[in-house]
Amino acid sequence: MIFLETAISYLKGVGPQRAKLLNEELSVFSFGDLIKHYPFRYIDRLKYHLISEVADQENPVQLKGKIINIKELGQPRKKRLVAVFEDSSGRIELQWFRGVRWIKSAIKLNSEYLVYGKAKQYAGKWSIVHPEMDEWIDFKKASGLQPVYSSSEKLGKSGLHSKGIKNIMHELFSQLKDPFEDFLPIRICEQLRLVSINDAIKNIHFPKSIQDAQKAIQRLKFEELFFLQLELLLRKQIGKRKNKGFVFSNVGESFSFFYENCMPFDLTNAQKKAIKEIRKDFLSGEQMNRLLQGDVGSGKTFVALLSMLIGVGNGFQAALIAPTEILATQHFQTIKDLLEKTNVKVSLLTGSSKTKYRKELHLKLASGEINILIGTHAILEDVVKFHNLGFVVIDEQHRFGVAQRAKMWKKNTSPPHVLVMTATPIPRTLAMTFYGDLDVSIIDELPPGRKPISTYHRFDSSRLNLFSFLRKEIAKGRQIYIVYPLIEESEKLDFNNLMDGYESISRSFPLPDYKVSIVHGKMKPDDKNLEMERFVKGETNIMVATTVIEVGVNVPNASVMVIESAERFGLSQLHQLRGRVGRGAEKSYCILMTGSKLSADSKLRMSTMSRTNDGFEIAEVDLKLRGPGDILGTKQSGLLDLKIADLSKDGQLVTLARSVAKNILKEDPQLQKKEHLMLRKKMIKTLQEKPDWGKIS
Ligand code: ADP
Ligand code: MG
Repeated sequence: MIFLETAISYLKGVGPQRAKLLNEELSVFSFGDLIKHYPFRYIDRLKYHLISEVADQENPVQLKGKIINIKELGQPRKKRLVAVFEDSSGRIELQWFRGVRWIKSAIKLNSEYLVYGKAKQYAGKWSIVHPEMDEWIDFKKASGLQPVYSSSEKLGKSGLHSKGIKNIMHELFSQLKDPFEDFLPIRICEQLRLVSINDAIKNIHFPKSIQDAQKAIQRLKFEELFFLQLELLLRKQIGKRKNKGFVFSNVGESFSFFYENCMPFDLTNAQKKAIKEIRKDFLSGEQMNRLLQGDVGSGKTFVALLSMLIGVGNGFQAALIAPTEILATQHFQTIKDLLEKTNVKVSLLTGSSKTKYRKELHLKLASGEINILIGTHAILEDVVKFHNLGFVVIDEQHRFGVAQRAKMWKKNTSPPHVLVMTATPIPRTLAMTFYGDLDVSIIDELPPGRKPISTYHRFDSSRLNLFSFLRKEIAKGRQIYIVYPLIEESEKLDFNNLMDGYESISRSFPLPDYKVSIVHGKMKPDDKNLEMERFVKGETNIMVATTVIEVGVNVPNASVMVIESAERFGLSQLHQLRGRVGRGAEKSYCILMTGSKLSADSKLRMSTMSRTNDGFEIAEVDLKLRGPGDILGTKQSGLLDLKIADLSKDGQLVTLARSVAKNILKEDPQLQKKEHLMLRKKMIKTLQEKPDWGKIS
């Protein structure tokens, strides 16, 4: 449809200057883009309150009345405008601090206005600052529902505030002749009782009633999520066809020997299920791209190890990539110990591996002498060449980008199988979207015998109680983590806090009875490892650290996690940190220390942590608090560029959209049926337009 592709500057009332602003501020370049700039709410202009009813400071209120008096107050350069607004029930003050002169000249005394804004109470007097003002006369004839569009200060200054946008939208609709193409199959619209695309687009901008608006929103949200899911599933399908996968036809000797002779415990059912799913992929002839989700401590590493052994038993090499040196080293030690009785050779490669060691390692890797390589990003470097890499495990994928993925794929003639393990659970609907082109295995069960961790929120003022509690735990032979935040913007401040904390703890827990370790990002890797090791071996009682210990570190004897300035951590981070304890047989505790003044969000984070240990539940709250972009750290990702659906609120629709998309592809994988031709057209366009996303698979 050429009309929709017309440049926005050609719209009457826009012109080059406003067009430039629309490009820059709203990414609106064409008529079609403008149509997709949907209102984010509606004001029902026929519904208003009496001034005497104003009581709410949180939500905006709409009033109808007249301005009976207006005057400028304040100093010449700090002028403000104060108006008295009156209806039959009383009076309220309206105030402006900007545009004083202009507003004063525009306002008509004693004519009827609708006023909209948040009312605030100062010293018993109610007022509204910078209200939206509309002459009543404009609304009497209209339906009453007015769309509200997001705008910006710059746009507002050029007349394109919400109302200005509404006006150009009107103009656009008056020129619109051809109906929109409906890409959704009619059958689906009927089944789901969705309104047509034409009704939806008209009614989202200019609804006659709230019901009409809601139906329009529902249709557009579904369509958006559905196209996205269809696209993801198609990509997955195409990927599988394109990439032949290595076939690991047997379970193999390495696995069998290990399973019979070296298992320190029985697998949980959830672990068994995950391994079965992976095994099926290994047999399929297609390249595996699987996400392994599971709460902290659910035993993902074991699943990874057993899967790697299957690869090794089939004559392939495997690699495990961890995000930090500490974690890679720890994985290496654990796995090396576990494999002691086997003939599987495992090596470590990190940024601080010495040159001589590296050279030898490179040779052994290329000859196939090394079966499993564990390490950090260093593994990705071009000089690291494998004899026959068949399987890669990535712990905590979201720190990896496209380029790194490509590197991994190039390490053999065909891309190796990939298993991505997440550090913390991701809400289901988010996983479905962000990892929509991966298969997912979930470990939803913790190994037996874990005692749930008790979590308490305490204020800084009760520090003395905390210290005496810690002494008691240490007397029982337990070890303790005390963690300080480290946030880049205030790194120096944080560092000082950490050092102050360390000093105060060293004073309160003096030698020779107590030994305190410290680990932070500014230490040399060798020193860090040494301190970490002392704590792991039980030579020190307390580990004071920044979040470098966040991931993976495993010290079963540690039973208390104290998190300082806990209000500065996000939920998933708090949950990760808490997962460092409760790994042994002892009862464990997590103490969240905060100042006494907390925001509503911080309070919710603390109470959520105290209430539940369930990572998936915590992830849901986190999603509501932060939104999907922040959680995945990929705001710029095209994937989350949704115009109307909201992954943190429209979970049910995501599930619905995915299952509808799945059913269609099951029935018609190439979208060749007549009723799917429009869908096919749409998908071909989408797949061509969108570049690859910045994530691993
Ligand atoms: P995750 O990586 O999922 O956080 P890990 O793989 O590090 O968890 O496992 C956490 C701890 O649980 C480790 O000490 C591991 O040895 C132990 N573990 C794993 N699976 C089992 C099991 N089936 N039974 C008992 N302990 C287990
Ligand atoms: Mg782990």
